[in-house]
Amino acid sequence: MKTTPIRSILLASALALPFTAGIAQAQTTLSAPVATPIEQTVPDAVDTPYPGGTIGIHVDATDLAHRVFRTEQTIPVAAGTSELTLLYPEWLPGHHGPDGTIDALNGLEFYADGKLIPWRRDNVEVYAFHLAFPAGTKEITAKMVYTSPVTGSEGRIVMTDELMNLQFNQMTLYPAGHYVRQIKLKPSVTMPTGWATATALDGQTQSGDTVSWDETSYQVLVDSPIMAGKYHKSWEIGENETFEAFAHDPEELEMKPGELDAMKAMMTEAGLLFGSRPFDHYEFLVAISDELGGIGLEHHRSTEISLRPGTLTSWEDGKYPDKFGFSVDVLPHELVHSWNGKYRRPALTWTPDYREPMRNDLLWVYEGMTQYWDLPLAARSGINTKELTLGEIASSAGNYDNEPGRSWRALIDTTYDPITANRKAKPFTTFSRSEEYYNEGSLIWLEADMMIRTQTKGKKSLEDFAKLFYGATDGDYGEKTYTFDQLVADLNSVYPYDWAQFLRDRVYTANAPAPLNGIELGGYKLVYKDEPNPFRKGIEEQYKYLYLRYSLGMSVTSEGKVTGVVWDGIAFNNDIVSGQTIEAVNGKEYSADVMKEAITAAKDGAPIELLIKRDDDYRTVSIDYTGGLRYPWLEKTAKGEGYLDKLLAPKRK
Ligand SMILES: [Zn+2]
Repeated sequence: MKTTPIRSILLASALALPFTAGIAQAQTTLSAPVATPIEQTVPDAVDTPYPGGTIGIHVDATDLAHRVFRTEQTIPVAAGTSELTLLYPEWLPGHHGPDGTIDALNGLEFYADGKLIPWRRDNVEVYAFHLAFPAGTKEITAKMVYTSPVTGSEGRIVMTDELMNLQFNQMTLYPAGHYVRQIKLKPSVTMPTGWATATALDGQTQSGDTVSWDETSYQVLVDSPIMAGKYHKSWEIGENETFEAFAHDPEELEMKPGELDAMKAMMTEAGLLFGSRPFDHYEFLVAISDELGGIGLEHHRSTEISLRPGTLTSWEDGKYPDKFGFSVDVLPHELVHSWNGKYRRPALTWTPDYREPMRNDLLWVYEGMTQYWDLPLAARSGINTKELTLGEIASSAGNYDNEPGRSWRALIDTTYDPITANRKAKPFTTFSRSEEYYNEGSLIWLEADMMIRTQTKGKKSLEDFAKLFYGATDGDYGEKTYTFDQLVADLNSVYPYDWAQFLRDRVYTANAPAPLNGIELGGYKLVYKDEPNPFRKGIEEQYKYLYLRYSLGMSVTSEGKVTGVVWDGIAFNNDIVSGQTIEAVNGKEYSADVMKEAITAAKDGAPIELLIKRDDDYRTVSIDYTGGLRYPWLEKTAKGEGYLDKLLAPKRK
């Protein structure tokens, strides 16, 4: 950079211009550069095989002390090649945003036929690495160290002393320019001695501590993560369908007979719902851990799921207690994704590689309908009780009945939230809204289903759509994409209606009414009671906090810390925000019971006086509220079995 002494500029200006204050500055022409066009140096993917041949991938996953994975890839190059661009996966299926953990990819070294060569990161696409090497080179060796997080603040923990969740996309590179299904490779991993390994990859063999699999494509590799660990137990839950659980303590790995029956029933009910299976085998890869970072991620032939310690062994009297039950529908949720999301995928969400951005516009189908189908699968199989499932529907309905952000932000816009907010906490979620396409999407599909059932007097339902739309050739774990118009056409062939308008009104329109109509058509109504429904009670017990969203408009931990406030609600209008602490209620030290008693007593005119601490300052707030405790429930209105009851009733004989 070359600079001009500032004095000479000032002097020149003063001499050149009339002696009028201010004008000198106004007439200075600001320096104004011209944009340099961005040159695209990374090739777009085409549907041709990677010409070099099969890539070898070996991951050394034995360094438990440092939580480090060391990868070596041998990448054959086609004759005459002298340059290669390698990519690190950025956009991963199921993540809904560009969150590839490239910051943890370190220690990069590349060799051309054994000789170290330089590398250069692309200055625009920073997930791309360019290599140049002598023509005639036969093979590039890539070495890298994936420094996985050692503390939760650095990212999701994927390795502990007893457990590992190995995702190949985190520790491998792939050649740019080809559909990932066209890149062939042969993977192997060296595991800590004595560990068990589970994955959907085919042809597993083991020699010493090294586990190898058949040649596969990069697409299948990325879709086939590994769960591994010191303590492992596997249960057959269907034909070629297994539940593979890993834990820090072998005592966690027990299922009661009724619990195992519910897992098997989940597979049976899924088959009955969709009519076919878009996989040749399926593995639940489950970590029972609160040390490993939480996960619930769908794959075509497997899923990675974490459950809290105590979940499997908590089954009693034919069910999980509410404090575990509220979260176990992650099992049917991720299973449903094999049909909805993996096999049937929105055309613009499907991408040929992990570089092209995924467009989220139809996530209210991808996630919303998955969230919808997991409800009946959980209730039908017995994974959850019907009461807990009704409580879950009531909780979403109550939230949307009371969400100021609906006024400005249509549901469709929340599909971009994983990109814009990257799943971080927000100060006013009820105003900014979050990933509402899950639960609001589910309520919209409930309405569609209940409407078809009502209009056809029970002859047709959204289950007919499911069989039509998701129907697959058994074992086809490819992808079949769809557009909005194709979705609407299949809805119309089940029950003729203006589905395009139905969906536009609910999905694409800001300030749409909360989608509660499905509950009413299903023979229930949304009511408020002074105690939490089983779903909410389970969450309150597990996370030890008080959910006052529907009364004072806030949630509070057992220590009195405010963790969320409803925009324009009572707490908000008393200047209470997240991060503040309620030290005392009516002169008594804060506890959930003291708070609940005060809210209840206020119905008869007693005060609610809160001592609030923010940073170092204390203040007293008198809350003017007489509505008592309020929690959403579904209350039955239908005589006999309503359509919502039918939805949740088992289908298997
Ligand atoms: Zn999902």
